[in-house]
Amino acid sequence: MVVLDLQEQPTNMQIHTIPAGPLETNVFLIDNGAGEALIIDAPPGGYEAAMAVAQEKGLAVKALLLTHGHFDHVLDTARYQEAGIPVYVHRDSEEMVRDPASAMPFPMPGIELDTLEWGSDDQILEEETTLTLAGLNIQVLNAPGHCPGSVIFHVADLKAAFVGDVIFYRSVGRTDLPGGNGSVLFDSIRTKVFTLPDETLLHPGHGPLTLVEEEKQFNPYSFYD
Ligand SMILES: [Zn+2]
Ligand SMILES: [Zn+2]
Repeated sequence: MVVLDLQEQPTNMQIHTIPAGPLETNVFLIDNGAGEALIIDAPPGGYEAAMAVAQEKGLAVKALLLTHGHFDHVLDTARYQEAGIPVYVHRDSEEMVRDPASAMPFPMPGIELDTLEWGSDDQILEEETTLTLAGLNIQVLNAPGHCPGSVIFHVADLKAAFVGDVIFYRSVGRTDLPGGNGSVLFDSIRTKVFTLPDETLLHPGHGPLTLVEEEKQFNPYSFYD
């Protein structure tokens, strides 16, 4: 059994995990150790929680990165825009973020679905690329299957990857929502997750963190049949 050492960080950087919203979506706040922060995903209610951490630590938030367009990851996006924080989103997710009602798979009472407009600082990601934000190199990997616009943000310097709903601790993302495809998802897991270094700490959109090495060994799904 591999033991997870979640305390180990290669630098003075820190990653905060902040579950928020009706589906307990993980917001991740990366503190770069030099007064700046990046935030991954924007579930409803996550903005206040993440900004409270940033404020407490005196961090300037430089960008919001969205793993995919599902409502439970994006409904607070406009709040970040209003605060002058640029948003990064894959082109196949941008319509779902701009018009969340267009992609609502099931009714969620009490959830507001306001449309938004992209600002000049926002970035639509057209292809796999490497971003440099807050002094960190962030490799953007396309990983469709759960959702056509799913991406993984891999930060090699942190030995961390933010995988959205592609793979979870001992599980995988659902593929029964519009645009979902099980064989495409498994292909993404084989070629985009399991090719990361074994010691990469995976930060899924829901539930606990895990390691590439552990999911290769213990994930109950068979990816190579
Ligand atoms: Zn999702
Ligand atoms: Zn989700």
